[in-house]
Amino acid sequence: KNLKKYYPITGGVFGKEVGVVKAVDDVSFTVKRGETFGLVGESGCGKSTTGRSLLRLIEPTSGEVVFDGTDIIGLQGEALRKMRRNMQIVFQDPFASLNPRHNIEKILEEPLRVHGIGSPAERKERVRELLEVVGLSSYHATRYPHQFSGGQRQRIGIARALMLNPKLIVADEPVSALDVSIQSQVLNLMQDLQRDLGLTYLFIAHDLSVVRHISDRVGVMYLGRLVELSRSEELYRQPLHPYTRALLSAVPSPDPDAVRERIILQGDVPSPSNPPTGCTFHTRCPHVTDECRQVRPDFRDVGGGHFVACHLYNA
Ligand code: SF4
Ligand code: MG
Repeated sequence: KNLKKYYPITGGVFGKEVGVVKAVDDVSFTVKRGETFGLVGESGCGKSTTGRSLLRLIEPTSGEVVFDGTDIIGLQGEALRKMRRNMQIVFQDPFASLNPRHNIEKILEEPLRVHGIGSPAERKERVRELLEVVGLSSYHATRYPHQFSGGQRQRIGIARALMLNPKLIVADEPVSALDVSIQSQVLNLMQDLQRDLGLTYLFIAHDLSVVRHISDRVGVMYLGRLVELSRSEELYRQPLHPYTRALLSAVPSPDPDAVRERIILQGDVPSPSNPPTGCTFHTRCPHVTDECRQVRPDFRDVGGGHFVACHLYNA
């Protein structure tokens, strides 16, 4: 709720603060129990920072993160550790996130050890159980990360996230580094796990096609802000924000009759240290008006939980 993460920019010999990067600038949304919420946008739009702030892997500058009724921002020590068991993260690059010198058993057992859960024998048993759950075998336990393919390593990353029986998983581009043929296997696994274990996902992606089939709702971010949020089918059927429309026009449609006009955006994403005035998308928008350059559009519900921040939809 009203989540912000600002980074100071320092300069000169005295390291004086000369500006600020608004990586996440007043973002609010709700993830419902059992759903998959897709968070989409180009790199640098603040989606990973948002996801990490939810787990307090990054401390937000301000705002609230309410999990099951508790604002976790104020939590410290034991209370924070307990809360963290409920929320885990799966990273984009499974190789970088697994310690190459540890075998799989040691890697998977670690969260249990850190939280003081189970005897060594029980932890061993849990590791073997979870390897099976993610489609690997207990004999993989004694192997090392480099002995696995990218897809298998991501299965290990998912198993590690599941060790503590979390309720929420933040998946930060979990399939972006994988071959297309492997992507769908990992996505299918994640969907099976969600159904079997009652998981809730915040699924971060830079590409709308990846989240299309797995998300119940999707939020689109641009330059640190949410610009559109809606139920997934509706977003794909009737995207409202010009940015969402441009992103979607780059995604091949599965319906051969749907002729979608390819919208090419002008220019690059502006620097988040010097964002445009008014609507931050105005430098690239084909519908820009004077109002857009001066007045920042509110993020409003235009009906049925479809939110958009754009002057085109002001009643
Ligand atoms: Fe484009 Fe104006 Fe809407 Fe911004 S507010 S997306 S510039 S039409
Ligand atoms: Mg990222």
